[in-house]
Amino acid sequence: MDEELSSFMESGVYRLSGLNAVFIEPVRVLNASYTRFRVSTSMHYRRSCKSDQAGSVARVRVSPDPKEWKNNKKKKKRKRGSHILNEREKSAENRHLEVRSLLMRAHEAFIGSSEVLSFLRELKGEVEKGLGAMDVDDENSLIKVGNVWQAPLYEMILRFRGDETDKEGEGRRLVLNGEGAHVTAFNNLICNETSDDAEAEFLDRWYLLPKNCCFQMSDLAQIYKLIPDHSDLGFNLIVIDPPWENGSARQKAMYLQLPNRYFLSLPVKQLAHTEGALVAVWVTNKEKVLAFVEKELFPAWGITHVTNFYWLKVKFDGSLIGELDLFHHRPYERLLLGYINVKGMDSGPHLAFKPPQANQVILSVPGDYSRKPPVGNFLIDHAPGPKPMKCIELFARELVAGWTSWGNEPLHFQELRYFMHK
Ligand code: SAM
Repeated sequence: MDEELSSFMESGVYRLSGLNAVFIEPVRVLNASYTRFRVSTSMHYRRSCKSDQAGSVARVRVSPDPKEWKNNKKKKKRKRGSHILNEREKSAENRHLEVRSLLMRAHEAFIGSSEVLSFLRELKGEVEKGLGAMDVDDENSLIKVGNVWQAPLYEMILRFRGDETDKEGEGRRLVLNGEGAHVTAFNNLICNETSDDAEAEFLDRWYLLPKNCCFQMSDLAQIYKLIPDHSDLGFNLIVIDPPWENGSARQKAMYLQLPNRYFLSLPVKQLAHTEGALVAVWVTNKEKVLAFVEKELFPAWGITHVTNFYWLKVKFDGSLIGELDLFHHRPYERLLLGYINVKGMDSGPHLAFKPPQANQVILSVPGDYSRKPPVGNFLIDHAPGPKPMKCIELFARELVAGWTSWGNEPLHFQELRYFMHK
C-alpha cells in the first residue's frame, strides 16, 4: 500500500498529487471524534447508495472515461443553444466557466487514482450489506419538538462514563453510577467536557456526544446566548451552512428555510475572536444567493472574502453525480472563505497563520440530504489566533469533538442509530 493510501485509511483525506484537490471520506474523518463508537458507514451513505441503485441522483450517466465527458458536453451545448440567458443566468454561467477546467482536472486525477476507486467499490459493498437489516427511514423530529409550547420545559439526561478519581475534578460534570444529569434540552449550552463519548437520553431516544463538544439547540432568536462575554474568548473558526431558500429542500420538506435577509442579523462579528476568525460559508449555486453573500452578507459581517473551495460530488463508481454543465443541477457546491477582524491581512508572509490555497477542490460521495463533507478540521490550520482554536458550526446537524455546534437540530445525526460500537 502506498504512503498516501495508508494515511488516507487512517485520516479519510487523500491528496491528489500535483493538484490543489483532495478526496475526503467523511466516515473516516468523523470517526476521529469518537472513542468507543464509530460512525455507521451504511447509515451515512444510505441516500447515495439508494440513488445509485435507482439511478435517480445522476440524471445523466457520466462515464468514467474523460473522452466521453466531451461528448456529453457537446450534447448539452446543443440542448442549451435554444435558450437565451438573462443577465443573472449569464453571471452564473460565467462563474461556472471560471471553475470548469479546475473541476475537470481534479475529477480526471481522481478517476486516475485506481486505488481510491477500488476503495470506493469496496465501500459501496459494505454500505449495501449493512443497509439490508436497517430501519433507515425512522427520522427524529427535533425541530417539531423545539417548536411546541412545552419546549422550554423539556429536559435531557446526560450520562458520562467516569471513574471515582475524576469525581472531584474541578468544573467537570462527571456523573457516576449511571444516574445521569438532567439538563434543559432547548436554549441551553450543553457540554461534554470529558475526553470520552457521552450519551444523552431525550424523549426515549439516545444521542452520542463526542469528547469535548458543546451544543445549543435553539432557534435563531436565541443564538445571542453563544456570544462570549469577552471577545478574547471568541471563536477562531466559524463554519456556517445556512438554510438558504431552495426549491428542492422545500419540496422534500427537509427543514425550514430562511429568507436571505435573516442571515444579516447573525452575530458573526460578535462570535469572532479578538485576534480574528476564519469564516467558511456554504452557498448554493443560485446566482441570487451568491451575489447576496458577496455584495451584502460578507460586508455586513465585516468579512474579507479570500477564496472559494469547491465540493465536487462523486458516486461510488467515481463518476460525477450529474453532468458538470447541467445548468440548474451542478454536481458541485461552493464554500466561501473569508477573514474577520484580522489585522494586517495584506502583510502576507508575516501573518501568524497560513491563509488557505485558493480554489481547492474537495471530492466526496454525498451522505444524507444537504449533509456537507466534514471540512472543519481541514480548515483549522488556516484560522488565526491562539491555540487551541475555538471552533463553532452554525446551523449544524451534528457534533464534532472539540467544537461547539448550534442550530435547531444539532443532534440530528447524533442519534445512536447512526453509530456502531467499536
Ligand atoms: N450543515 C448541515 C449538515 O451538513 O448536515 C446542514 C445544515 S442545513 C443546510 C440548515 C439547518 O438550519 C437545518 O438543520 C435547519 O433545520 C436549520 N435551521 C433552519 N431554520 C433555523 C432557525 N430559524 N434557527 C436555527 N436553525 C435553523
